Amino acid sequence: MPKLYLLLGGNLGNRTLYLQQARESIAAQVGPIKQSSQLYQTAAWGKTDQPAFLNQVLEVDTALTPEQVLQSINRIEHELGRERQEHWGARVIDIDILFYDELVLQTQRLTIPHPQLHLRRFTLLPLAEIAPELVHPVLGKSIRSLLEACPDQLEVQVYAE
Ligand code: ADP
Ligand code: MG
Repeated sequence: MPKLYLLLGGNLGNRTLYLQQARESIAAQVGPIKQSSQLYQTAAWGKTDQPAFLNQVLEVDTALTPEQVLQSINRIEHELGRERQEHWGARVIDIDILFYDELVLQTQRLTIPHPQLHLRRFTLLPLAEIAPELVHPVLGKSIRSLLEACPDQLEVQVYAE
């Protein structure tokens, strides 16, 4: 089965609960979660009046195509977002596709690998925890070496619940 890496993130409401609900929906609708990183906290960038973000990376075995994965994660974001719309003004959960096997894909709706992943410490750090040897199919470098070379200075810390 294709191996998928997803990045979860959120900075509003009960962040750990939204991440947990997202994991449950992903396991039910996308495929079994084979590995999950710890939760990492990153200070909100730019707009400092925002709460800090929590991020987590998952490795998922999926029988879905990339387009179907996108539909599923959009549906999950929407389902979790409904609650949010009653209580909060902004998005509580973002789910991005980082890698889908070694696939390189660029369409109007989908870019894989995720175009920003090598620039963001909050993505590379949790990814390096579960897949340090994974090689980026476009850049030809491992996650470990991308992390070492990453210029992003934003502090990312393991979040202990
Ligand atoms: P962002 O993730 O940049 O904060 P959104 O979550 O609103 O923004 O995503 C906007 C669109 O990005 C999605 O509707 C989707 O079509 C597109 N997209 C392109 N590549 C990817 C990817 N690798 N993972 C998730 N969404 C992607
Ligand atoms: Mg997104």
